[in-house]
Amino acid sequence: METIHWDAVTEEAVRHLQSLLQIDTTNPPGNERAAAEFLADILTAEGFEVTILESAPGRGNLITRLKGDGSEPPLLLYSHTDVVPVEAERWRYPPFGGEIHDGYIYGRGAVDMKGIVAMQLMTMLLLKRTATPLRRDVIFAATADEEMAGVYGMGWLVDNHPELIRAEYALSEFGGFSVTLGTRRFYLCQTAEKGLCWLRLRAQGRPGHASVPHDRNAVVRLAEAVARLGRAKLPLHVTPTVREFVHGIAEAQEGEGREALLGLLDPQRSDAVLERVLSDSWLRYNFYAMLHNTATPTGLRAESKTNVIPSTAEAIVDGRTLPGQTQESFLQEVRAVIGDEVEVEVTLAARPLEFPTDTPLFRTMRRTLQQHDPDAVVVPMLLTGATDAKHVARLGTVCYGFSPMRLPPGEDFMARVHGHDERLAIETLAFGVRVLFDTVRAFCGRKEA
Ligand SMILES: [Zn+2]
Repeated sequence: METIHWDAVTEEAVRHLQSLLQIDTTNPPGNERAAAEFLADILTAEGFEVTILESAPGRGNLITRLKGDGSEPPLLLYSHTDVVPVEAERWRYPPFGGEIHDGYIYGRGAVDMKGIVAMQLMTMLLLKRTATPLRRDVIFAATADEEMAGVYGMGWLVDNHPELIRAEYALSEFGGFSVTLGTRRFYLCQTAEKGLCWLRLRAQGRPGHASVPHDRNAVVRLAEAVARLGRAKLPLHVTPTVREFVHGIAEAQEGEGREALLGLLDPQRSDAVLERVLSDSWLRYNFYAMLHNTATPTGLRAESKTNVIPSTAEAIVDGRTLPGQTQESFLQEVRAVIGDEVEVEVTLAARPLEFPTDTPLFRTMRRTLQQHDPDAVVVPMLLTGATDAKHVARLGTVCYGFSPMRLPPGEDFMARVHGHDERLAIETLAFGVRVLFDTVRAFCGRKEA
């Protein structure tokens, strides 16, 4: 096999990422067609056949495929090219500049997720350049609209062109990044994500003149229910993913820390561990969200005049459900807190996802990460948010969040996602390209290759 000159590969990946960051794909409106055409030019120049499909004017979705020998089903590498809006005046460097400073590439989308688009693109190019014989097709899809639920992107592709992206396994965001806890470096690979169950709460009451208060005020009823729900602790549910995650981290700790972490999984001790042991509030909130369904009030409405008691008052609630939970089981938990006086309507629902770690692909991910970082501890992760995996999984695909990133010490990945000064270190991009390419080659290449 021809040797790969990794320094040149890194330079190329950096260049492509800079160009991608310079294309403003803020969603809304998205305008992802420009990013799709940029990728198409690179791919077609190297002999790929590329399809760009528009779900709506300007909403470009790009798909290409490297053929394998068909002995095993395809692997899908998918990413989104849209980004969330910026407050440009709060950035140190232009958010659509793609500028390099102190070893970092700056720009909206550097980590979420144009940096990963660049990793996947380089993986495709390298597989082709090395003429790696494949037993699985490798599909590359860079799609629109993930930041607005993928209606014009992956959701649309799954509904309208499933044959183009159908695969046994898929890799994408959100995971594969490193977190240093104590002295150990952990790589969190997403194998599960929470479901959505958004709610509207509605309280009815007796309208009237506000100068004569009475005990059937809809605003007061609603406010009481919302306050109870916002402060409530819903029941503990330990999912297989979170069990493996906590064990993976705990086993790398010494003494007391280890015992305390395992206590998170114990119904008798979990709350106490969250409150007394985890001093860092960010960690505490995240562990709570990984172990419980959540119902977060995010809006209130009771349109009226100051001197009129309205007959109805409404609140919206962002509900998130753990794998293993259903809409019904979640609603029961909510009802138990707010009682029967308030109506509950489900406005949006999506199922939670959970995939096993006992698969040949997950083993390949773990092995490859450890080859490149021998101290790495690889653990599965439950994402509390939602990604396009929700759509891809409808085709029966096993979806992992695996975009390998060894982060420089002190670099807070989570703070960069949707934050100001989003950036990716050049060394992190270089690591990602190598690990992703090696993973895909090992998993999809023919054994004799
Ligand atoms: Zn993203």
